[in-house]
Amino acid sequence: MKDLVIIGAGPAGLSAALNAAHLKLDTLLIESSAAGGLPLQNYPWKEIDSYLGMCGMPGKELAEKMVSQIPDSIEIRENEPALEVKKLKTGFKVRTTKGTYTAKTVIIAIGVMGQPRSIGVEGEGLEGVCTAIEDLDEFKGKKVAVIGGGDTAVEYAVNLSRAGAKTWLMHRRDSFRATGSNVKELSNTKTKILFNSEVKKLSGTKRVEKITYVNNKTGKEQTLKMDYVFKCIGNIPSKDFLEKTGIQMDNGHPVVKPDLGASIPGIYLAGDITKDLMKISQAVAEGNRALLSAYTYLKSPYWAEKK
Ligand code: NAP
Repeated sequence: MKDLVIIGAGPAGLSAALNAAHLKLDTLLIESSAAGGLPLQNYPWKEIDSYLGMCGMPGKELAEKMVSQIPDSIEIRENEPALEVKKLKTGFKVRTTKGTYTAKTVIIAIGVMGQPRSIGVEGEGLEGVCTAIEDLDEFKGKKVAVIGGGDTAVEYAVNLSRAGAKTWLMHRRDSFRATGSNVKELSNTKTKILFNSEVKKLSGTKRVEKITYVNNKTGKEQTLKMDYVFKCIGNIPSKDFLEKTGIQMDNGHPVVKPDLGASIPGIYLAGDITKDLMKISQAVAEGNRALLSAYTYLKSPYWAEKK
């Protein structure tokens, strides 16, 4: 049985893992995709200007630095989504798509983003239909449609347009839910905005070549040639995983104690999962805090004794 299984290798999970290594806990770190979290998956190109000392480093580089700092003593299993955590008489059983592990404590740091939502139309599986930008340069001179009306969609459209892509932003309503500052940025780009527009079909032989959409006010259907389509329509939240684990929830959020303990003793929560999207610095701090709490639970060290 491991001392600790950490679920989620974003900034919070990686911070917990680094500190677990320093405290010599026998630890397994499980990640559903590639280790690095949101900075790697959702904004690898974005310059992170809110993390002290990183001075505008792109998300991908920051994520890679974080991952490379984890000592070899921590086993990292990538592309292995966790399916459930079950309480045993002693410790926990963590079941993933590839195996089952037991541990005395568990830290859940899976963020709030969960899995990308699907539009539910024909052609979503075609090449060129994506949910994340890896390298903005790839899109220079290309025709790109971004679907959605939230901050992700608007930020993507702004950055794609600035990178020289011919960009359309397609939203099903007549106004964005994105924040005012992002919408203002958008107005300074050449993005063509299509309101009241719903995707009907994506077509092409192997790659996406066309997008067909309908204006939900007029009923008029139109087809545009496209090289790429970005689905920025939100995610199925991670709270489903917490609910399945039996963690007490309050209004869609897990109940979190001051030491970051969940309602089940021995399970700790860290990062965005505790209170929706927040800063990388907060996620890193919470990863460290959750780890110290898990260590205290395991070892009752003298320095954590209650006065
Ligand atoms: P989101 O806020 O949930 O927005 C999803 C958008 O997709 C909405 O406009 C929604 O339309 C649309 N949508 C949902 N299902 C759809 C479907 N089946 N077909 C077409 N459109 C669909 O998701 P997000 O933009 O990824 O943002 C998630 C969170 O991260 C938000 O809290 C956001 O503020 C935050 N965020 C912040 C920043 C930043 O501040 N820099 C950057 C990125 C994300 P409706 O409007 O009609 O519901």
